[in-house]
Amino acid sequence: MKKLAIFAAAALTLAALPLAACHKQQTDRSKYVITAAYDENERTLKGTADFTYFNSTDNEIRDLQFNLWGNAYREGAQYKPLTDADAKAYYAGASYGGESVEKVEGCASWEVTGEDENILNVTLNEPVYPDDTVKVTITYTLNLAQVNHRTGVTESTVNLGNFYPVLCAYSQEGFVQTPYYSCGDPFVSECADYDVTLTLPRQYTAATSGKQVECTTAGEVTTARYELKNARDFAAVLSDEFKTVKRESAGCEVTLYYCGEAEPKRQLDAACESLAYFSDTFGKYAYPTLSVVFTPLSVSGMEYPALTMINSALEESDAIYTIAHENAHQWWYAMVGSDQVNCAWQDEGLADYSTVCFFENYPAYGFTRTGALGSAIKAYRAYYSVYNQIFGKADTAMTRNLKDFASDYEYINIAYNKGILMCESVRTAMGDKKFFSALKSYFEANCFKIATPEELISHFTALHDVEGIFVSYIEGKVVI
Ligand SMILES: [Zn+2]
Repeated sequence: MKKLAIFAAAALTLAALPLAACHKQQTDRSKYVITAAYDENERTLKGTADFTYFNSTDNEIRDLQFNLWGNAYREGAQYKPLTDADAKAYYAGASYGGESVEKVEGCASWEVTGEDENILNVTLNEPVYPDDTVKVTITYTLNLAQVNHRTGVTESTVNLGNFYPVLCAYSQEGFVQTPYYSCGDPFVSECADYDVTLTLPRQYTAATSGKQVECTTAGEVTTARYELKNARDFAAVLSDEFKTVKRESAGCEVTLYYCGEAEPKRQLDAACESLAYFSDTFGKYAYPTLSVVFTPLSVSGMEYPALTMINSALEESDAIYTIAHENAHQWWYAMVGSDQVNCAWQDEGLADYSTVCFFENYPAYGFTRTGALGSAIKAYRAYYSVYNQIFGKADTAMTRNLKDFASDYEYINIAYNKGILMCESVRTAMGDKKFFSALKSYFEANCFKIATPEELISHFTALHDVEGIFVSYIEGKVVI
């Protein structure tokens, strides 16, 4: 995600590089076959998810747990998707949604549970053993609030982020349950395959994470089917106003979806050039398409695999920065996953530093590396000063749960600005060649997986003794 923060002109450089180790390439994955229909009068998405679970763990699994992210939008939710400060995102006044499960087939029993009715627990008929599969069918309704946010009916589109029950990520302690914190992106999930069929009023166009493989119109509705392989989420945005511009870049079809008159030419350039740059620098982009969607949002941008949401109200320059930032998340979030709940710096810091590197190599956009670093230092020092005054001592540790950030302001300075500064310190110590070699190695070793901070750091320390730099930043000891 990119918050609505001020980006001073900045930029960076990157070189490129090689290397890699690779864990075994997973050939068996879980699969979602989703069929869903949008009703614009009811503001609902009624869906069925046939979910085939592939047990890639070393344990027998008796229960499956799914995130019901859409339920955070219901009235009375304990964890709300937006803070009171973002209330204006509810452009029509207070509005609520929710995600209700009607039935689950292929199981012994099921219940909606979790800390905030955010988890669907499905008890299987019998345990599923490592390398085995089991299928359950979930019938659900997503009620959409009127809100300019990831999931909701916006002022001109329908944002369908996190629109289906998403299997929780698995750790040795079991499936990991995470409430919907308003701070950051509280989503952690594992890669799966998708076959998604959407039925829409015929005047609607869908931008999605997938590649369209079928489309038919009958009467008042259009039904289209999309495929996506090896991705940790699938998102869509609908609108009856969309226009598109598209171009191929790095072997991928890049499509910008926008409303209004002005064709986003420079934005398309930035989307294509950053995709190509990151592909060259970190490793090949894995998906056949990328949808860059201009849509009302409460933040600057939001990333999903093969689809990014860009706030349609941004000025051209901020939109270009955000497009590059969200594209960087295709590498640091979508392909290489991390624990965004406890280690947000690992994807936001890397994504924002990668953005700076892109602009360093494409100076015509007007951002400079010096400017980016200067504004990050200035913002971070201001945060440090303010929080010292408020709390006596600012907490500068980077690895912490999203719920432990006192504000979005603190989150931005720790995860983004301090993340940028840490990357710059590591790069300066190692030199460009080793730095970008380490990033390429990290990408190749962890593509389609969820990487720990230790895994990230190991790829740098293998080439240069920079562990002390990482530790001093992460633990909050470095003086900036
Ligand atoms: Zn981000």
